[in-house]
Amino acid sequence: MFENLSERLGGVFDRLTKQGALSEDDVKTALREVRVALLEADVSLPVARDFVKAVQAKATGSAVTKSVTPGQQVIKIVHDELKHVLAGDDPEPGKLRIDNAPAPILMVGLQGSGKTTTTAKLAKRLHERERKRVLMASLDTNRPAAMEQLQVLGQQIGVDTLPIVKGETPVQIAKRAKQQATLGGYDVYMLDTAGRLHIDAELIAQAAEVRDVANPRETLLVVDGLTGQDAVNVATEFDDKIGVSGVVLTRMDGDGRGGAALSMRAVTGKPIKFVGLGEKMDALETFEPERIAGRILG
Ligand code: GDP
Repeated sequence: MFENLSERLGGVFDRLTKQGALSEDDVKTALREVRVALLEADVSLPVARDFVKAVQAKATGSAVTKSVTPGQQVIKIVHDELKHVLAGDDPEPGKLRIDNAPAPILMVGLQGSGKTTTTAKLAKRLHERERKRVLMASLDTNRPAAMEQLQVLGQQIGVDTLPIVKGETPVQIAKRAKQQATLGGYDVYMLDTAGRLHIDAELIAQAAEVRDVANPRETLLVVDGLTGQDAVNVATEFDDKIGVSGVVLTRMDGDGRGGAALSMRAVTGKPIKFVGLGEKMDALETFEPERIAGRILG
């Protein structure tokens, strides 16, 4: 995901570290290249600009230029700033607030973003790693195939799904899921809402109605990480209209440019909680800024 960015930054830093002593101008030139590399990775312009400004402010002091390893110092500052832009001040961005059983998790997103797959991946993770009893329900009444898809995934991963009852509305399904989760002693119930190709009034109205009934502890927006700045725009719009508590970026195994991951927190103020790294049910990782910053810097 970050191969190109990583390579570009690697080149800039190689030159810096080889140089030995650094003037403020050397640092400025390097940071100009960093800015271009970020923009080419599809990081939004204000985010790239602020990033470079923050690094510059920390790197132009005498502590760096007088240091015996000035190049390394700059890299360390860039690393810390990457971590900051990825996660803000949140020490545990991947943590879910699902203490009071049964805790509802609302899954929202556009059709094709990987929402249903992610619902099942996350259910599996909560079930296996946190020993939670999880119930999943599909609210996609427009697409019976999507409801069946969740059912099949549930069987595959050994997680219960709410039985499908034809003719129910999404709100009725959400209420039934809550009832079954309460009666059945589940820790978590996940509501996989209907997706559409674009954000339209009906999609938003339906998700808002379900949100009001379910009162979710977490509303997770699933977005396709390959779509770069579009992913960030989708997140902004969903957050404005429905309110999201966190983001899952899918297809981070693909060869996108990685900009969505870097812009998401700074633009939307919402944490990335998980990243999808493939189609398999285990291909979901918690979002760890330290590791991602490390990956970017190679
Ligand atoms: P939905 O319409 O948003 O529910 O999307 P689906 O969950 O049906 O996913 C659409 C396609 O994307 C499926 O073929 C998934 O296997 C695939 N997919 C989902 N997440 C990922 C991911 O992180 N990486 C890759 N490579 N494929 C994914």
